[in-house]
Amino acid sequence: MPELPEVETTVAGLRSVLEGRVLTRVEPRRADLRVPFPPDLRQRMTGARVASLGRRAKYGLVNTDRGDTMIFHLGMSGRWRIDPEVNGAHDHLLLETDEGRRLSLCDPRRFGFVELARTDALEAYPPFAKLGPEPLGPAFTGAALRAALAGKTCSIKAALLDQRVVAGLGNIYVCEALFGAGIAPGRAAGRISAARLDRLVETIRAVLASAIAAGGSTLRDYARPDGELGYFSKQWQVYGREGEPCPACGAPVLRRVDGGRSTFYCGHCQR
Ligand SMILES: [Zn+2]
Repeated sequence: MPELPEVETTVAGLRSVLEGRVLTRVEPRRADLRVPFPPDLRQRMTGARVASLGRRAKYGLVNTDRGDTMIFHLGMSGRWRIDPEVNGAHDHLLLETDEGRRLSLCDPRRFGFVELARTDALEAYPPFAKLGPEPLGPAFTGAALRAALAGKTCSIKAALLDQRVVAGLGNIYVCEALFGAGIAPGRAAGRISAARLDRLVETIRAVLASAIAAGGSTLRDYARPDGELGYFSKQWQVYGREGEPCPACGAPVLRRVDGGRSTFYCGHCQR
């Protein structure tokens, strides 16, 4: 499933094709993904110039000179393809620019979606209205995290997955950040010291930045026809490594399942 770094990498790849260009073709090829495509998507986006691209949490943003923002979410399996040689059955939205570059949004499982909002009202767009700070932004500090967690009795892992506490963190990066910060995933969120939360914030930023850098280093691959945006291989320290030696102490990495999600951690290094 694409997480924040994959979305950031995807936006960087799209920026190289779309920024400053006029969209000459905007064609949904079915009525819906997880939700219907906006009925006026083609009309509002065709002929518009792409002013900029951005990201909020795990949402990609395509801002046009008409004051519209096309918001996309990659769901479980979504990816953008650049200059595909052929359009397949899972290419559900096609874009073309005045330079003749083509993009397709491919989403076999159709858990993703595309919506439109006015750029100047994005903060009021319902999924954004309750989002916490961006983990890579200036508002996400140890003090802010401490305030957000005050009095919370849920686990620190559950708290970090709560998008109101911090936006865009998913299971993989939460597992990796808690390992890096040496914090046990089941520890009560409201009872972690300020110093440890400072370290956790630094670790979250470092884990995300390292994944974005890894994604950036694969961006060149997207220049080829049929290049796909959104996924890259990454070596995790504990995620997906149950039973393998902890990279810090050598004890076997443990896995626990709660709420259908796996938590990977070291019972020795994380307290
Ligand atoms: Zn360990």
